[in-house]
Amino acid sequence: MEIFDYEGGICKPAQELGVFLVPAVNGCSHNKCTFCCFYKHQTFGMIPLNEIEGELIRAKNHGAVVKRAMLVGGDPLALPVKDLLDINDLIRGYFPECGTITMEASIQNLRR
Ligand code: SF4
Repeated sequence: MEIFDYEGGICKPAQELGVFLVPAVNGCSHNKCTFCCFYKHQTFGMIPLNEIEGELIRAKNHGAVVKRAMLVGGDPLALPVKDLLDINDLIRGYFPECGTITMEASIQNLRR
């Protein structure tokens, strides 16, 4: 089985136990919190859509049922809305049963 070569750290809240993880971004758009060493070595950027789709296809081919997905990376909400909608469309295209997509976000993301 091919495994997605995700190079970043994954910080997943306990309430997301069992959620399907979708690699969406490398790094964190802020990356300046002194207490956080998750993404210091990375430059923030979206993972190419074709690679995200490849991961969804891999999961689909292995019979995954995805009712809840979480975008992985420092703060995927920093992505432009169009990119988030493209990822949303891919997830819902392969997993129409998916009712919820979550992600980490900073307060700057929310303000923007
Ligand atoms: S915003 Fe979050 S992921 Fe980014 S550096 Fe701060 S704690 Fe780490």
